Order: sequence, then C-alpha cells, then structure tokens
Amino acid sequence: MSHLPTVKLLIGGEFVESRTTEWREVVNPATQEVLARVPMATADEVAAAIAAGKAAFTRWKKTPIGTRARIFLKLQQLIRDNMKELAALLTAEQGKTLADAEGDIFRGLEVVEHAANIGTLQLGEYAENVAGGVDTYTVMQPLGVCAGITPFNFPAMIPLWMFPMAIATGNTFVLKPSEQDPLVTMRLVELALQAGVPAGVLNVVHGGPDVVNALCDHPDIKAISFVGSTRVGTHVYNRASLAGKRVQCMMGAKNHAVVLPDANKEQALNQLTGAAFGAAGQRCMALSVAILVGEAQQWLPELVAKAQSLRVGAGIDNPDLGPVISCAARERIHGLIERGVADGASLALDGRDVSVAGYPHGNFVGPTIFSDVKPGMSIYEQEIFGPVLCLMAADTLDEAIELINANPNGNGTAIFTQSGAAARCFQEDIDVGQVGVNVPIPVPVPLFSFTGSRASKLGDLGPYGKQVVLFYTQTKTVTSRWFDDDASSGKVQTTISL
Ligand code: NAD
Repeated sequence: MSHLPTVKLLIGGEFVESRTTEWREVVNPATQEVLARVPMATADEVAAAIAAGKAAFTRWKKTPIGTRARIFLKLQQLIRDNMKELAALLTAEQGKTLADAEGDIFRGLEVVEHAANIGTLQLGEYAENVAGGVDTYTVMQPLGVCAGITPFNFPAMIPLWMFPMAIATGNTFVLKPSEQDPLVTMRLVELALQAGVPAGVLNVVHGGPDVVNALCDHPDIKAISFVGSTRVGTHVYNRASLAGKRVQCMMGAKNHAVVLPDANKEQALNQLTGAAFGAAGQRCMALSVAILVGEAQQWLPELVAKAQSLRVGAGIDNPDLGPVISCAARERIHGLIERGVADGASLALDGRDVSVAGYPHGNFVGPTIFSDVKPGMSIYEQEIFGPVLCLMAADTLDEAIELINANPNGNGTAIFTQSGAAARCFQEDIDVGQVGVNVPIPVPVPLFSFTGSRASKLGDLGPYGKQVVLFYTQTKTVTSRWFDDDASSGKVQTTISL
C-alpha cells in the first residue's frame, strides 16, 4: 500500500501531503490496478486552503485584467502541448477511450481560451447625466474565495469549466475534484501553476461529504459551483444557500431524443447510437431515452444492429466504449436492467454478459436496449448512467413533447427530422434547457453557457459563457457628482432629488 503514489493537496502554492488517516484508492476501471491513494482532507486542511485563498485574494483582485488573462493564454498552450499525456492519465483512471479523453480535455481547453478573453465580458456600464452633472456607472467586482465541486465523468472538462473562469474574473478558488479520478485534474492544476497562477489563487482539497459540507458552511467561501448528481447537488444547493452563498448546481438528467419518420434514417440512428452508448453512457448529456414516432418505430432492428456492432474494450485500445467507473456502478446498472425486465420492458439487446479479451476484471457493460418502456418503470424514472437506451413509442410529435415535458429533468434533448416546421415547433414547445436539431449532444461552446433546466439545475446562472461572469462577480453601482472648485456650495438638501 505505502509504495503507491499519494495525491497531494494544493495549499498556498505548495503541493502537500495530507495528514489524514482516511484514504481511498484511485482504480483503473479496465484492470482494477490501483493507481494512487487519495486523501479525505481534514477540517484543518480545508480551513488552511480557504485561508490561503483569502490571503491571496487581496493581491489577486487588483492584478491587471490582462495579466490575469494572459495566464490562461499560456495555460491553453500547455494543455495542447501535453494533450497526449493528459488523455492517457484520464483514460487510465476514468476508463473512457483515448479519443474521448482528448475530447474531454478539448472541451475544457475551449473554456480556458474563453478565460483568456475575459476582459470584454467583465465590462461595466456608464450613463452620463442621470441627473444634472451626475453620472452612474457599474463595475463587476470579484467575490472573493469561490469553490468548485466536480463529478467523475469529465475530470478534465468540468474542473476547467470552473477555476479558469473564477480566477480570470479576479477570484481565488478552492477545487474539490472527484475522489474517483483526481489524477488528470491534478495534472491540469500543475499546468495552471506552471502557466503563472500565483500561490494561493488556486487551492485543491480532496475528500467526500465532510469536505464538501465544510466548503458549504465556511463563511469565507462566497460562491460554489457544483456539478454532479441531483441528490448531492440538491444537498449542496440547500446547505450552501442557507449559509448565504451564491450557488449553481448542474445535476442529473434523463435526456430524450425524438426520432420522426422523416429523419435521415442512417444519420439519425448513427447519432443516436453514439450519444446513447459513447463514454459508456456516463455523460450528463447522453441520450438515454429515444421516442420513436410513427413509422420510425420500425427502425428498432437497425438500431439494435448498430449498437451490437460497437466494440467494448479498455479505453487505451480505443474501442467504441470503455468500462464504467467502478464495480459498484456496474452492479447498479445490472440491477436496473433486472428491474427493467421485471417491470415489463422488452430487452432488445442485453449487454450484461460482455467480455473483453485481456481484461477479465474490467467493469464492462455492453450496449443495452429496452423497448416498450413506460413512465413509472425504474429504468425510466432513474438516471442509469450506463450504456442503456430506453425506447418509447409515440404516434405524434405533440405526444412526444408532452412525454418529455412531463419528465422532471431538463438537461438536454434532441430531435431528428428533415422538417423545419417540426423542428421549430419542438424548439419552441419543449421545456428543456439545451435543444439539438439533428445534433445529438447539444452542449454549447463557451461563447454561450451550459443551460440545463428544471430538475437538472439549481441556481440561475450557468457555468461558463457570459452567464458565469455574472455568477463570479458582484455588480457595484457608483453614482457620482463632481464640483468645480469655484462653484458655490449651494444649500443643504433635505429632499431626495438628483
Ligand atoms: P456525485 O454527485 O456522486 O459526486 C459529485 C461530487 O460530490 C464529488 O466531488 C463527490 O465527492 C461529492 N459527493 C458525493 N457524495 C456526496 C455527499 N453525500 N455529500 C457531499 N458531497 C458528495 O456525482 P458523480 O457520480 O461523480 O457524477 C455523475 C453525476 O453527475 C450524474 O448524475 C451526472 O448526470 C451528473 N453530471 C451532471 C452534469 C451537468 O452539467 N448537468 C455534468 C456532468 C455530470
């Protein structure tokens, strides 16, 4: 055990060994090889990380915008230079394919590029002569120490949604990565320091519920960005809001696709297959439900054939899908498949018995398809977060829209059709925050923000794009009047008039 590398905390610019007695293992999901041990940081260590952020804030908030932004210009280059190494690390601890790991890093890299252009987004407003000789202007000031809590499924992209935007806008940050796969996150943090993030501006603590609760409660944390499950996100939102913080939580999903019979069949089925089973279904924007409308219900055999043709394997061999994150996750997915059968859904493709040559211990689940799925079944009500696609049937687009709007989640949805009128009707009437039209996973690029809705999100503002600048800043309004030296001092005013 002791020969294993340990994951360090980052406090005040130093990578330090935790003094905790509680550790957990970081495990390669394809092989069960233990890669490292990660500490559950102590209360004192969390407090020290926050104190380091607070001390650094006094200088950092006054650091020129360009100086702050240029660090991210450097960081994006360092990430590009180290892409292959980062992807290999990510694949080893998370399981996704190398190609997908590069995608994970690249989508985060785009946010780093965005952070390098922060100046134009953090501008105030100015109105001259709001009254005679009186001007009003606003400044968008950073909040102080902010915190980020991230999930296992995008260990590069999601930390990069958070700390670059918070720091570029003048805040300092405490990051709490997923304890299941913190290694690539830590490598990105090292690169951030190499790019010039000063000591104390970025801090990292590791841990589980106790550490997260400490961040939610601490008076010096001003805002929390959380990405993860609905259960934990709801807890974080309630607890941190009660402690007076600004909170945004991006949470779980059940994303529906609608396939109309006029869709380009080949393209629609390919996209659906990729979005349902890619990353072993462990994407918050995975299409885990497809509503086949009318004649499209006849396409089931072709969909099953496409799913069957996908290659399952260790991420390092670049198959179509890798293992799920842990043995526990695989057991949970198997349990839900059993429940689906017991609830009366038809198992059109069963991925439970998949085996991968050379990797007898991997957490593999093959593509699985249920048809005849109905609301009320566990496989429909719960986020499975594995390579399981639920198929439902509808006679009309209106019926499909009604079904989706009745589902509590609102992360993403997609329609496949060749009809502009149908697509327009869908985009207008669907109550989901991110809509794809012949685009299966409509995650916006950082010019926009991620905009999940309803039960998939708590808080008003999204994690990147323009919205996050509002999240990480407080608008201060200044109303000013200047007197000429020789102007008469006038009379004392006791009425309100500007
Ligand atoms: P999770 O909620 O289990 O963990 C997220 C974070 O919360 C981790 O850092 C973890 O250490 C911490 N945590 C876990 N249990 C906790 C508890 N009881 N109290 C306090 N903190 C706790 O999520 P996960 O399994 O790592 O990630 C998968 C989930 O994340 C899925 O539901 C997925 O849909 C969601 N997700 C959502 C988005 C989005 O943008 N909406 C993006 C990615 C993932």
